[in-house]
Amino acid sequence: MRIGILGAGVAGLSCAYFLRREFPDLQVHEASGHVGGLARSFRWHGFDCDLAPHRLFTSDEALLKELLALLPMNRVTRRSRIFLQGVWIRDPVNAAEMVLKLHPALSLKIVWHYLFRRRYHRLPVDNFESLILNKFGSGLNELFFKPYSEKLFGIPASEISADWGRRKIRVAGLRDMWRRDTKLYFQDFYYPRRGGYGAICERLHEDVRPLVRLDSKLIAVSQSDGGGVYRCEFATVEGTRIEEFDVLISTLPLPFFAGLLGLDLRLRFRPAKITYLLLNRPRATDNQWFYFADREFIINRVAEFKNFAGDEAPADHTVLCCEVTATEDYSPARVIAELEQAEVLDRREVLDTKIIDLPYAYPIYDHSYDEQTRRARDFFAQHPRIHHVGRQAQFAHRDVDEIFEEAKLVAGRIAGRQPPSTPDNA
Ligand SMILES: Cc1cc2nc3c(=O)[nH]c(=O)nc-3n(C[C@H](O)[C@H](O)[C@H](O)COP(=O)(O)OP(=O)(O)OC[C@H]3O[C@@H](n4cnc5c(N)ncnc54)[C@H](O)[C@@H]3O)c2cc1C
Repeated sequence: MRIGILGAGVAGLSCAYFLRREFPDLQVHEASGHVGGLARSFRWHGFDCDLAPHRLFTSDEALLKELLALLPMNRVTRRSRIFLQGVWIRDPVNAAEMVLKLHPALSLKIVWHYLFRRRYHRLPVDNFESLILNKFGSGLNELFFKPYSEKLFGIPASEISADWGRRKIRVAGLRDMWRRDTKLYFQDFYYPRRGGYGAICERLHEDVRPLVRLDSKLIAVSQSDGGGVYRCEFATVEGTRIEEFDVLISTLPLPFFAGLLGLDLRLRFRPAKITYLLLNRPRATDNQWFYFADREFIINRVAEFKNFAGDEAPADHTVLCCEVTATEDYSPARVIAELEQAEVLDRREVLDTKIIDLPYAYPIYDHSYDEQTRRARDFFAQHPRIHHVGRQAQFAHRDVDEIFEEAKLVAGRIAGRQPPSTPDNA
């Protein structure tokens, strides 16, 4: 059986890793000149930089053990904050702390609207905004949830799917606060001892290196007349190359890949601009990451890599990594000005700047999301030998641990180690 894996991010590399023994001839085709995709790292001025803050957290002990067996990682205590209305508060938000720290008039508004949120209980919970109004009232919605989610996705909160809200709400419920071990409210996380978060992908790559073809971009797919073989056309540095596969694992953005097979999907991604700033000072904060919740800030989140696993980082300098999805209003000068306004830095300390574009940073869960993913499922049900794994391919906010686990399941099914179950398509 000839297997073609499209993309060498963590999804493609993990699939190859789990299939390499049974299928030593499998091929991984990667459009760029490097592996790791969104979970890669690069060296800059002696710092290992990730594409925005990345950390490993899972409450699945067996999975964690498997990942820790791959490479040495440190257990790190989480330190993160939110800058809101000129004050710093803990992340995830503790509603009581928020009320205590904010201006009394604002706090009163939050409490008042919270107490009278019952009137929103009549609203159907069919979008993100009504979900928040139901749960917290309009005070917290106006102050925090609405501006942040609208900045992140670039659409009104009332057009964001409630489904996303249920998974991602950044105010911990009481149960979460006690348990402190959920994806949202974890206290500790794991991070590679060396090489940044990208060390996970580098480690997977080590075991599958001969199978990976870099600079090999999928540009067309067709199926042979009998409906058997998938004929894939790749653009490479030497020119076009054709390969035929019995089984395809796509980790490519779902609308792009579906488009190659003739299905037009209206699923969109929110791009991001990541700005790296080299600062002439040993540290800017003691946080691993911090958020800017207010609407007037275009920055969503900032990471300071030295606070993740900075033992070998240069002593006199630090690097901040700022994520912006409101790219319409973006400029590096504005990013620096916002950090200065929050008293994180002085612009004279900025020694160098680097910008990276992420065209597929966040799948946008808008109203059409359910219907469009259903269309994708129906379409790919006719292609049982095409599998979709990963954040872009499954159009879901997946983390590395979840993708690794999914790759293992899919590889198991392909190799006949597990009985086939419901299709993993989309
Ligand atoms: C801002 C941000 C923060 C995150 N934080 C965390 C975190 O804290 N912890 C965590 O675990 N995860 C985090 N994630 C998620 C994690 O980065 C992703 O889920 C994961 O890297 C996605 O891997 P993937 O292989 O599915 O997709 P990708 O990494 O996008 O890989 C897809 C690959 O396919 C290649 N490709 C694209 N088109 C073609 C083509 N036509 N032909 C061939 N190859 C192609 C791309 O170059 C890429 O290498 C974060 C993501 C973002 C954006």
